[in-house]
Amino acid sequence: MCDRMIKCNKEYSSNIQRRFKKWTNELLSKFGPDITYSNNKYQLRRPLSRIFLLNESDYDSLHMKLSTKSDFLVDGFEPSFDKYTQLKDASVVNLEEFYQNENIITLDTSLACFCPVFADSDAIPMMSSDFDSVILVCPDRISESAQRLENKLPEIESDLIERLLFRVALTHEIGHHYTLGNFSVTALREVQKFKDLNILEGMANWFAYMFLDQNERWVQAEFAISQRPSYRHYLYFKHSDMSQLLDVFLKDMDYSKAPIALKNIIGGKLNLNGHMVSVASKFNGVAMDWSDKGGTIIAGEEIKALTTMKKGFFITPKIDLLIGRFPQEVTIVTNEIANAPDYGKIPDNIKVLPRDKADIMTVIKNHFSDDNNKKVESILTELGLY
Ligand SMILES: [Zn+2]
Repeated sequence: MCDRMIKCNKEYSSNIQRRFKKWTNELLSKFGPDITYSNNKYQLRRPLSRIFLLNESDYDSLHMKLSTKSDFLVDGFEPSFDKYTQLKDASVVNLEEFYQNENIITLDTSLACFCPVFADSDAIPMMSSDFDSVILVCPDRISESAQRLENKLPEIESDLIERLLFRVALTHEIGHHYTLGNFSVTALREVQKFKDLNILEGMANWFAYMFLDQNERWVQAEFAISQRPSYRHYLYFKHSDMSQLLDVFLKDMDYSKAPIALKNIIGGKLNLNGHMVSVASKFNGVAMDWSDKGGTIIAGEEIKALTTMKKGFFITPKIDLLIGRFPQEVTIVTNEIANAPDYGKIPDNIKVLPRDKADIMTVIKNHFSDDNNKKVESILTELGLY
């Protein structure tokens, strides 16, 4: 596709194992500057400057050195989705106003991170005159995390998971470069001041998803369960029309348009038992756990789609599209799932009961007016699951 990305500089700690260097080269050979999305074409103008594969102590010391001048993507804001949906229709927002009361969320950047390095930094020699896109990766920690994922991915042979997770992590960081690589220093400084994780981590994971293959996508979806909710928004994005956000980052390069673009992608909302149900274009009736609090949804009618939630129950006769993977703390009970692309094998906390044995629509009707505290218990009891 292009050799500008392939030529990206690579630096390694002395004891980095060969396989990680090989995987890095393999991965980089896939990327080029042209981005085609539906009918839109974009071009990434800036090459990626450097990738560092480092052992734990080198990683931590360079990470610290870089973050004194450029505290990028180690923390940020995660505004509630209500806040976007309440935005007035306009093309830009006042970023200062929009983010002023948000709490700072700290991210776990111990496996890998993306860092734009500006010319005033003396942490590492610069390769370009304005800013360098730098990625730090710690293969040792990725290996450890891969071990923890092994029994959670029955679709994949366990000795493959390390390579897949390495590719997922590095592709996510490259996704940040694809998001921000066309920005000017001034625009990037603005992002740095108002780091919107819903947008930035959502976009990086969305880009990664678009580049990854099926096995890697399963790893990405499973890994996202252990991360902040902003890392899971791509699960929704991947079924949405992302043109507006791509325009903001790759064509207009105007960050003040980003919150409105996100608002338009989320669409309007309905409330279903206290949960947000999106009514954006083709997504009428998507139940989402944007809050990351989990909860219980009992829907007597078929639901179009459900995105991953942290804990609780989801009981409905039919799910058209199950989006994302669900931790063991979630129980889903349904008669039919038409599509579950983020799983190769449906795990046992997702119970698909044959309708002729247990008609969920009828059982929900029988208990619809039950006391809220007892409702789940009585439905599950009648279905023989409690
Ligand atoms: Zn990230």
